[in-house]
Amino acid sequence: MPRCQNPRCRTDYPPGTYRCTNPHCQCLLPDAIVAGRYRIETLLGIGGMGAVYRASDTFEMTQVALKIISAATSNTDSAIAIERFRREARMPINFTIRILCRY
Ligand SMILES: [Zn+2]
Repeated sequence: MPRCQNPRCRTDYPPGTYRCTNPHCQCLLPDAIVAGRYRIETLLGIGGMGAVYRASDTFEMTQVALKIISAATSNTDSAIAIERFRREARMPINFTIRILCRY
């Protein structure tokens, strides 16, 4: 039974559910597929601008950190978020970061 991994939510869902329906959360649940190739494994962190998941890239058979940002409220927010994520993506870590906008 999929469970929302947000520590403030922890709602259980029936099998086959891939997104938390709590309007204050909306986390992706384990086994959700993003952009047709990334399978969500676990929630690594969540903040005001989005969430980071450990995911497997089903095309390249590798693990990635997938950051999904919440919809920006303005172009300025968008530009700030993109620059911040570019900086994060250059950080020396031992896995790949992929950044996607919430769909
Ligand atoms: Zn939730």
